[in-house]
Amino acid sequence: MPADAPTDTTLEFMGSITEATMRALACDMSVTTVVVDGERVPLDVSREKRFFPSHLRKALYVRDHCCIKCGAPAGRTHAHHIRHWADGGQTSLENGCLLCPSCHADVHHNGWEVFIGADHHPWLIPPPAVDPKRTPLRAYNRRTLTVDDLALAG
Ligand SMILES: [Zn+2]
Ligand SMILES: [Zn+2]
Repeated sequence: MPADAPTDTTLEFMGSITEATMRALACDMSVTTVVVDGERVPLDVSREKRFFPSHLRKALYVRDHCCIKCGAPAGRTHAHHIRHWADGGQTSLENGCLLCPSCHADVHHNGWEVFIGADHHPWLIPPPAVDPKRTPLRAYNRRTLTVDDLALAG
């Protein structure tokens, strides 16, 4: 991804990809920065940096248990940046949630939104095509909670 032209992003062996696809892929990945000169000759290369390091991933597993939208097992999920790092979002528990690949695509391409509620858990807002009122939905592992469970959890 050229820093001066992010829309010119390409994937090796695949060619050009859209910015939306780049953002979805870039949500949960490791990055290596290669600094190039005007002729795209590398001048410097960084160490690989993982956006969600293992300790944060474990914290997400404990809080979310599974894909927050469909309940797919945690081992199949990506860590999603609720506010994208390219827009200044932090890599933190409060800005992350677990989504399986297909639900992750729904969030990046099909109008689903995620926010962290007052309960410090992620919530989903469906797109108008799914729910015209856009009523927020609890994360999957919290949908079966009863009022009593919530009272116990404080
Ligand atoms: Zn899912
Ligand atoms: Zn994402």
